[in-house]
Amino acid sequence: MSQDKIQKVTIIGSGPAGYTAAIYAARANLEPVVFAGGPTLEHPQRVPGGQLMVTTDVENYPGFPEAITGPELMERFQKQAERFGTVIHMENVTKVDFSKRPFLLESESGIQIRSETVIISTGATAKWLNVKGEDAYKNRGVSACATCDGAFFKKQDVLVVGGGDTAMEEATYLAKIVNHVTLIHRRDTLRASKVMQERALNNPKISFMWDSAVEEVVGDGKGMTGAVVRNLKTGDSKLVNAHGLFVAIGHTPNTELFQGILETHQGGYLKTIPGSTRTNIEGVFACGDVQDSYYRQAITAAGTGCMAAIDAERWLIEHGE
Ligand code: NDP
Repeated sequence: MSQDKIQKVTIIGSGPAGYTAAIYAARANLEPVVFAGGPTLEHPQRVPGGQLMVTTDVENYPGFPEAITGPELMERFQKQAERFGTVIHMENVTKVDFSKRPFLLESESGIQIRSETVIISTGATAKWLNVKGEDAYKNRGVSACATCDGAFFKKQDVLVVGGGDTAMEEATYLAKIVNHVTLIHRRDTLRASKVMQERALNNPKISFMWDSAVEEVVGDGKGMTGAVVRNLKTGDSKLVNAHGLFVAIGHTPNTELFQGILETHQGGYLKTIPGSTRTNIEGVFACGDVQDSYYRQAITAAGTGCMAAIDAERWLIEHGE
């Protein structure tokens, strides 16, 4: 199903970055098209709207002093984009051709779109432990974001899994809020940078379980109450009581579609020219978590989405479109 019309801006992804880009592009009369994504064979749990769709209360998005649920916030993003004329396809792009202009995009149902510019906002997927009980207690104890969910565990005991900078940062952040943090790491040395390690190691509210792995998350049906942790050297398992489990073992940026086409950093995040959302291909822009391994917040994703729309608009003007 090829469309004759050449689009000015096509956006791939529908999290805070994608919809913010759509709102700005639509208000600039660029008539954006959004491919919102959805489940794939490899990622059956992926939904349009991104990571906020699997979050309960969002308490740190400015403008919502009483908090708002992740899905409700994303519904509002979508409505705001539609209000200014954004066309949304609830499906995945399966193929891109950036080798000739206008660029060509093809979706899973066979929609073919030619577009002068493309904004990529496909986000990132948190890595999970894939152990028993983890799925059942997501949002009821199990989380992949301390900044988002830490405040729900005031004065309680929590676990953090991982040995990298994210795990150290999450543990140190949580220690300011909760009663006690137990950091569980599968080896006896940390991967995190020295300064982050020391901050966590010297914090009296953080203790470490080395050479250990979570085997199972347990709970009372309403919420998580603990985790079974196995010592990988001795093979002994024990139940550790805790109301929260923060999985901090890394994220995978959703860049399968652009492998070998766009430049990436180590870890697979799309490279953008500092201070902009421009990628190595002129007219292709990237925003949100797909190009940000560092901040990874809804508000920063929205901010870069705005930047991408402005970058695309200026690129179109410069190229006489
Ligand atoms: P990393 O890949 O650096 O670390 C992941 C950690 O999780 C490792 O310790 C790894 O163990 C462990 N791990 C991986 N898979 C499993 C598993 N299945 N079960 C148990 N443990 C597992 O990811 P991060 O998210 O920590 O960091 C990503 C990037 O972002 C890094 O470059 C980091 O420096 C950067 N960053 C920087 C920050 C800062 O400077 N403030 C803050 C946060 C991130 P093992 O060590 O054994 O491989």
